[in-house]
Amino acid sequence: HEAKREGVRYRFFSAELTDRAHERLKLAADLRRALANNRLLLHYQPQVDLKSGSWVGVEALARWFDPQQGWISPARFIPVAERSGLIDRLGEWVLDTACAQAVIWLQQGIDFGRISVNVAAPQMAEEGWAEKVKEALERTGLPPHKLELEITESLLVERMDCVTKGLSELRALGVAVAVDDFGTGYSALSYLKDLPVDKLKIDRSFIRDYPGDRHAAAIARAIIALGTGLGIRIIAEGVETEMQRKALLDAGCRQGQGFLFHVPEPAASFG
Ligand code: C2E
Ligand code: MG
Ligand code: MG
Ligand code: MG
Repeated sequence: HEAKREGVRYRFFSAELTDRAHERLKLAADLRRALANNRLLLHYQPQVDLKSGSWVGVEALARWFDPQQGWISPARFIPVAERSGLIDRLGEWVLDTACAQAVIWLQQGIDFGRISVNVAAPQMAEEGWAEKVKEALERTGLPPHKLELEITESLLVERMDCVTKGLSELRALGVAVAVDDFGTGYSALSYLKDLPVDKLKIDRSFIRDYPGDRHAAAIARAIIALGTGLGIRIIAEGVETEMQRKALLDAGCRQGQGFLFHVPEPAASFG
C-alpha cells in the first residue's frame, strides 16, 4: 500500500515540477520577446524625508504588461531573467531608461534627488560591469552624482573582488551605493568595514510590523543605530502608516519610501 501511495505521490510531484519548468521556460521566452519589442516599462517611486516629505530620491521599478497575462510582477520575472541570461539586457535597458528619464526631469527643473536603480547580482558578476554603468551615464548625459545603485547583501559577500573594484570606481565618480533589503541577506556585516556604502535600506519585513512587533522593532532600531554609527543614511522601505512614520522618526530614521507617501507610478505622473 505504502509503495503504491509513494508512486502516486512521485508522479504527482514530477508532473508538477515539469509544469513549473515549462512555465519558467515560457515566461523566459515571453520576456525575451517583450524586451525585443520594447514592452517593458518603468514606474517610479519617490523616497522622501520623513519630516518634510520632500523627495530625496526616486526608485525605478521594472514593469511588464503582457497582453495575454496582464501585469506580471518583477518579483516573478526578475528571477526568471537572472536564470535565463536575460538580466544583462534587461538591466542595461533599465539603467538607460532610468538615466534618460532623470535627465528629462533635470531639464524640467524637477528636483528628484537621485535616481535609484536596482542592480541584480549576476549583472555585476563580470569584469567590466562598471564600464557599462559609465557608458549609460555618458550616453544619457546624467551627472554621476544623480545616480544611485541598489545592490543586495549576498552580492557583497559572494563576489567581493569584482564587485568592490567596480563599485569603488563608480563611487569615485560620485555614484551612490545603497544596500537593498538590508537585514534579510547574509548579515555578514564585515563588508561594511571594507566597502563604504552610502545608504542602507531597512527591508520592508521589519517595517511591516513596526513598531508593534517587539522583534521587528528591535531589528529596525539596530539597523538605524548601525547606520548612525557608520555615518551613513538609513531609509525605511514599505512605510504605509502615519504611526510607522512617527515611530521611525523617533528612532532616528530620517528617510522613507512607501505607499503612505507615493505608490510607484509612470514618469508622466510626476511631470
Ligand atoms: P525592491 O527593490 O525592494 O523594491 C521595493 C518593492 O516594494 C517594490 O515592489 C515596490 O513597489 C514595493 N513597495 C514600495 N512601497 C511599498 C509599501 O508601502 N507597501 C508594500 N507592500 N510594498 C511597497 P516591486 O515593484 O513589485 O518590485 C519587487 C522587487 O523586484 C524589487 O524589490 C526588486 O528587488 C525587483 N526589481 C524591480 N525592478 C527591478 C529592476 O529594474 N532590476 C532588478 N534587478 N530588480 C528589480
Ligand atoms: Mg530596490
Ligand atoms: Mg528594497
Ligand atoms: Mg524589498
